[in-house]
Amino acid sequence: MSLILDRIKAIIFDLDDTLYDCSGTLVLKSKKLIAKIISKAIKCSETEALKLQLELEGRLGPKADISHEIAKQYNLPEDFCEEISDTINTLEIDDVTLFPDAMASIDELKRIGYKLFLVTFGNRDIQEKKIKFLGLERAFDKIIITENPLGKEKCFREILTEYDLEPEHVLCVGDKIKDEIEVGEKLGMHTALMKHGRHYNFHKSEIAEDASYTFITKISDLLKGDEN
Ligand SMILES: [Mg+2]
Repeated sequence: MSLILDRIKAIIFDLDDTLYDCSGTLVLKSKKLIAKIISKAIKCSETEALKLQLELEGRLGPKADISHEIAKQYNLPEDFCEEISDTINTLEIDDVTLFPDAMASIDELKRIGYKLFLVTFGNRDIQEKKIKFLGLERAFDKIIITENPLGKEKCFREILTEYDLEPEHVLCVGDKIKDEIEVGEKLGMHTALMKHGRHYNFHKSEIAEDASYTFITKISDLLKGDEN
């Protein structure tokens, strides 16, 4: 028996830290590039600059604007933040690969007959590059990129309407408790939290003991039985 309930007809996936390791690859890579800018601006080593970013993120959370925080602390000019923002927006998307089981699991879920969707948040150009680089362009029935920092509710509703789906027939899979799992739950969807990455790690202590969502550590868990 699959972890997916019989009534499920469609699955909405998140991209970053759900289908590939974003925290350990692109996020870390951008932090190392940003460390070069910080080290020049505040006269410290790049190692110290990387540590400073990790400490601030550990304290303020993965959504915090670390460059503004550093600019404020060290009284740095505005072009410091602009340089960092340019670095992030022009980050080369390379050396990233899907989690080893992700593509085979997506193919199997498609073969079983689920409608599959990808809803991802972030800069449109960057998310498009990731989707292309990871070979996901044709893996889903529909792909939505949202730049709305308030979450994915509008995108989820759009899918329900366009594909004439009832929320209880949809499974929402992601690593962000607030922006994905709680949004899915609020709409009446089933949800599965991917236990991976900086967002999960920062918020995991907030998970209620009686949380109604399923926990997975890899996409192929969805195809396994409850006993696993
Ligand atoms: Mg994610």
